[in-house]
Amino acid sequence: MGRDDTESAQVLYHTYMKLSLAPAITLIGLLAPGLAAAEWLERVEDGIMGTRIAVELWADDPKQGQAAIDAVLAEMRRVDEAMSTYKPTSELSMVNARAAQGPVQISPELFDLLDTALVYSRVTDGAFDITYASVGYLYDYRKHVRPAEEQIKAALPGVNYRHVVLDKSQHTVRFTQPGVRIDLGGIAKGHSVDRGIVLLHGRGFVHALVTAGGDSRIIGDRFGKPWVVGIRHPDRKEEVIARIPLEDAAISTSGDYERYFDEGGVRYHHIIDPGTGHSASKVRSATIIGPSATRTDGLSKTAFVLGPERAMEIYNRLDDIDAILVTPDGRVLYSKGLEAPTK
Ligand code: ADP
Ligand code: MG
Repeated sequence: MGRDDTESAQVLYHTYMKLSLAPAITLIGLLAPGLAAAEWLERVEDGIMGTRIAVELWADDPKQGQAAIDAVLAEMRRVDEAMSTYKPTSELSMVNARAAQGPVQISPELFDLLDTALVYSRVTDGAFDITYASVGYLYDYRKHVRPAEEQIKAALPGVNYRHVVLDKSQHTVRFTQPGVRIDLGGIAKGHSVDRGIVLLHGRGFVHALVTAGGDSRIIGDRFGKPWVVGIRHPDRKEEVIARIPLEDAAISTSGDYERYFDEGGVRYHHIIDPGTGHSASKVRSATIIGPSATRTDGLSKTAFVLGPERAMEIYNRLDDIDAILVTPDGRVLYSKGLEAPTK
């Protein structure tokens, strides 16, 4: 997701704020020294969940605003601790180590997210599949490592969301066979964004943005205008191919340019086709707009696996989401909700 246009919008807003609020601030400063003025706050932090986190909000009291941002970041660190497969101590790593031997008791939060992930697998005809990791762990994009065909063939039987069995009454998960690994990289960022937004809502904030990598959610507007989120060109980072005005919505973009390496004219990237164990390349990018970031994150991988036509059928069937796809030949496709003329 390109943020270029949003950033330039920010510059405009700040100029406007300075002009309109300066006299008020001076007045307050004279009448009540020490009284905090309402402020637009922004913080960016790199590293949590291996990505960039950004939080913005309008705070009547900047101190409370900063404390809320601290709380959002702490919440994201907590989710990362529980759900990262890079951390051997995480709850998810424990599941991967033990669930093929028998049922493993898990937290309500992880249980619900696994349940949601399985719902998305069914909705997307298996394109979204957290067991992709049974093969996916053999790739290392940073080190340009990819599995040989025989390795993929050997690991592929572990890929099938039906191997993951949840027991609601016991709050357990088990894998029906050995060789199954799950990874929540395709949904945990969206989940953590939603957790952040719930937290801000609970503290009374009504204008805010939380972003984790390609997943964002917005509450309210920005000084009476919608937020504008840009979708970047798959190859030219600085170029924005579409601008989406949003209020009270989540948006996720997946792209084959996020984590990848090129070799012999083939792009090996981080979205895996559960059917083949290879990178899924039927679109270059997919953007989903919807009510929650968990949902938009969970649905943004589908088009890569199923291709634009089949994926669009599914997206159009779901009433609460919209989609923008960029095809390998450079076409930009919009779901039916976005084709409607804007008034
Ligand atoms: P980001 O990690 O920047 O949010 P995406 O939302 O596009 O990027 O998610 C990509 C991640 O999804 C991959 O890094 C991997 O962890 C996971 N993933 C890859 N293929 C699949 C798949 N078929 N189903 C579910 N998750 C997948
Ligand atoms: Mg994502």
